[in-house]
Amino acid sequence: MAFTIRGTIMQTPTAEHLQVLQDHVVTVSDDGVISSVVPGSAHEGSVEVTLAEGEILLPGLIDLHVHAPQWPQLGSRLDKPLEDWLFEHTFPLEARFADLSFAAEVWPSLVGGLLGLGTTTAVYYSSIHPGATQALAAECLRQGQRAFVGRVAMDHLEGTPEWYRDSDARSAVEASHQSIVDIEALDPSGLVRPIITPRFIPACSDALLEGLGELAASSGALVQTHCSESDWEHQYVIERYGVTDSVALERFGLLQTPSVLAHAGHLTPDDDLVLAGTNAGIAHCPLSNSYFGNAVFPLRRVTDAGVKVGLGTDIAGGADPSLLAQCAYAVTGSRMLEDGVNSAVDAESRGLVSSRVDMIKAFYLATVGGADVLGLPVGILEAGRAFDAFVVRTGDQTSVRRWPELDDDEAVFERLVRLARASDIVSVWVNGTEVQTRQVS
Ligand SMILES: [Zn+2]
Repeated sequence: MAFTIRGTIMQTPTAEHLQVLQDHVVTVSDDGVISSVVPGSAHEGSVEVTLAEGEILLPGLIDLHVHAPQWPQLGSRLDKPLEDWLFEHTFPLEARFADLSFAAEVWPSLVGGLLGLGTTTAVYYSSIHPGATQALAAECLRQGQRAFVGRVAMDHLEGTPEWYRDSDARSAVEASHQSIVDIEALDPSGLVRPIITPRFIPACSDALLEGLGELAASSGALVQTHCSESDWEHQYVIERYGVTDSVALERFGLLQTPSVLAHAGHLTPDDDLVLAGTNAGIAHCPLSNSYFGNAVFPLRRVTDAGVKVGLGTDIAGGADPSLLAQCAYAVTGSRMLEDGVNSAVDAESRGLVSSRVDMIKAFYLATVGGADVLGLPVGILEAGRAFDAFVVRTGDQTSVRRWPELDDDEAVFERLVRLARASDIVSVWVNGTEVQTRQVS
């Protein structure tokens, strides 16, 4: 249904610019695409939705990296290094998704929870199970979330436990191919799409990586995997192939379609050049990196090199499901990288100069940056893009207080991104359809 909405919009068309459109009217066509954004004074005709005083309309958030089966582990089990965490906590949990009734308990909570935080697009790792993967895609479609859903492929005899792996490379590639076919059949509209998902190089045999590269070429489906995530993972790939993750993934044909590379905290400047020349982009997961990355992702350097970057929560390695919160973590991490963290080192040599980013850039990555990585026409509320958006309440009785005598637009925006909670998000739309509403007492 076509509709119009009137209110104040805040968004970041570039990484340097906060755009505030006071009292504007957005008109959305029947197909969910924005047909116009004009000042309220220039709009003729009725308006279906008028935002209340203090409510702000923002473009929907894009979470580039979510491990769906880890949702029940959110906020816990963060005490081990990555390689131990996987075997002791995470693989056992993911293995439970062989049971479809367990998946049926988890998926509605996950998808609804993320939509309620303004995450209108999510890129999901599912488990290795075709049934649970298809059920996740169906749940995204049922709740109206834009999503990429990937069956996880992993067959390496040392990098995976024998009770949670594909039986061999050939059957793994076939299962991933079938999952693509099944998800495309589920949703011809393309709101929910498949994505090829080799877990990461340590969990995959050469034959599997080769087979999935060929599958990417033949299907045109997007690819997601992890890249240079931690000291251990980064060094493992160098020892196995004599090259870094980025080069190895490119050789296996896994960077030819739009590819989402999670973490990438250990990228070298040479890797920046490799990635800038491909369709790959990075899912920067700042909170997760604090636990498992062993280093801060050099966000400024990598974006300055022309590599596409968006944000991810990395649920549940990242313990906070809010992408607004990840914006704040990205700013915090960049400040720590710039100043350094060890007070025993001289201040002049403690940090990495010119590493900091501000909240405008962080929000740009969470919206336009993610859209660019995925090749989706979302991220900004402007004519020609899909209406994926959410409304945040500000003012008294919310988490985002206003101080009219002190505030300018940038202060309100920065405070909103840092402090807004799920309870402040009152409406969420995906492709022009309202998918969540919260009653305010
Ligand atoms: Zn991950």
